[in-house]
Amino acid sequence: MAMRDGAAYLAGLKDQRRIWHNGALVKDVTTAPGFANAARTIAAYYDFQCDPANREIVAYEDEDGERSHRSFKIPRSKDDLRKRTAAYAAWAEHTGGQLGRAPDYMNAAMAGVAAASHHWGQSKPELGEHAEHILDHCRRNDVCLTHTFVTPQIDRKTPLGEQEPYLNAGVVKRTSDGVIVRGSRVLGTLAPFCDENVSFGLPIIKGEAELKYALGFTIPVDAPGLHWVCRDSFDPDRSRRDYPVSSRFEEIDTVAVFDDVEVPWENVFDFQDEQVHNAALLAMQFQESLGHHVIVKNVAKTRFLLGLAHLIAESAQTNSFINVQIRLGEIVTMLQTLESIAVAAVEGSVENPANGVWYCNANAITAGLRLYPEYYVQIIDHIKQIGGSNFMAAPSEANMEAVTEAVGPSVERYFKGAADMTEEGIEKVPLFRLAWDVVGTSLAGRQELYERFFFGDQQLSKANSYQRFDKAEAVEMVRRLLDPEWLSKS
Ligand SMILES: Cc1cc2nc3c(=O)[nH]c(=O)nc-3n(C[C@H](O)[C@H](O)[C@H](O)COP(=O)(O)OP(=O)(O)OC[C@H]3O[C@@H](n4cnc5c(N)ncnc54)[C@H](O)[C@@H]3O)c2cc1C
Repeated sequence: MAMRDGAAYLAGLKDQRRIWHNGALVKDVTTAPGFANAARTIAAYYDFQCDPANREIVAYEDEDGERSHRSFKIPRSKDDLRKRTAAYAAWAEHTGGQLGRAPDYMNAAMAGVAAASHHWGQSKPELGEHAEHILDHCRRNDVCLTHTFVTPQIDRKTPLGEQEPYLNAGVVKRTSDGVIVRGSRVLGTLAPFCDENVSFGLPIIKGEAELKYALGFTIPVDAPGLHWVCRDSFDPDRSRRDYPVSSRFEEIDTVAVFDDVEVPWENVFDFQDEQVHNAALLAMQFQESLGHHVIVKNVAKTRFLLGLAHLIAESAQTNSFINVQIRLGEIVTMLQTLESIAVAAVEGSVENPANGVWYCNANAITAGLRLYPEYYVQIIDHIKQIGGSNFMAAPSEANMEAVTEAVGPSVERYFKGAADMTEEGIEKVPLFRLAWDVVGTSLAGRQELYERFFFGDQQLSKANSYQRFDKAEAVEMVRRLLDPEWLSKS
């Protein structure tokens, strides 16, 4: 089948999935309030990839002679990575980077898993074969994946092996056909709209008591015994003009509960080997494999935020003031930095001789991942500071109509901006409704938390960067300048 369109994707969501929301099972995520809009957005992604206008950019001809999204392709050259950038950018720029979990994100993760088949298979070759078959299956069926990597945040101090067993999902036993998994994992973003889930790489384990948590596998979202517990949907199910982001991009987050779920053996690629499991993220170059998408998405997102900040300032002519220009200039600098990182990531990519696969430049990806949470928080702060009370002076469409009818059209002049932007297709009230949906609504708050945490806690990761960084050259420079004889001797 290879590439699916939106209709085929939506048809695949009508199954036995157990999506818990607001005290009940969601019968059909394609029609339920709070879910249907996001399902349509993901369907639009699949239509977008099939559109002849985009196909050349987003697709490649796979081994079967069919077309698949480029994110499924294991990169065998720098050019593959360049083309993958273009494929990611096509959708991300189209949507202002507002969908963190466009399906191409996890497609590339599965390519990364399969590219590391030598690692998974080092003591049990069949596990390496499973990893390759899983990618084949995902690509051929254009599977939409969620992922649950993280141990639920119950106790971060006590070693897992000393905690109540199976709070974190782990292996209960092997059966003739697979393994039984019990426990929980977080945080399955997009799960209600996905076909399958993948878990691997985490937690890092120590010793016999934690061996049950050393597991990598995929599983259908509707597998018997698998429950998805949603937070509240932040899609208010209101007019798209009033909530342009929440009514389109509510990708929702869930806690996965594995109530003794049987995972078929062919879906398992990491199984109870402490050394293989703990080395997996480094061996598969996890950051480089998944971070490429993140960087490209963040370029698009920042470009969109810059446009928003600029138009908000222009609407009241506050961009004539130096303090506002400085804030806008900071966003420009952030965008330029991210664009440079995106180029460096690909142009500085390197081949891993162990598997002949090309990976983005690790330094560039790491820098991009570490910088963005703080960039995002600063940009949101800039937009709030530039917009002032205008966010609160942007009534809903219905309210505007009602008051105009009661008072007369002259009332509209209280809601206009100084600059006439109608020629650019921009009206002030909808502009501020959009901006508030990005900086202030429930979904906006969630987006900020997302940027802070979704790729792990970047605060801790910075400490990690420091610990791992080879400091020899830096130390040598300092040592040289401390030498009273240096320079005079040379
Ligand atoms: C909106 C959103 C969507 C997400 N989507 C997904 C998803 O789709 N799939 C997925 O797998 N995960 C997802 N995540 C989870 C994400 O990967 C985690 O949030 C991240 O790894 C951090 O883990 P945590 O939230 O449990 O926080 P913790 O790691 O528990 O950290 C919480 C705080 O405690 C501190 N802390 C914790 N442990 C230590 C320690 N040992 N030493 C020092 N300080 C410590 C941290 O610095 C941090 O400030 C998502 C998260 C968010 C917020």
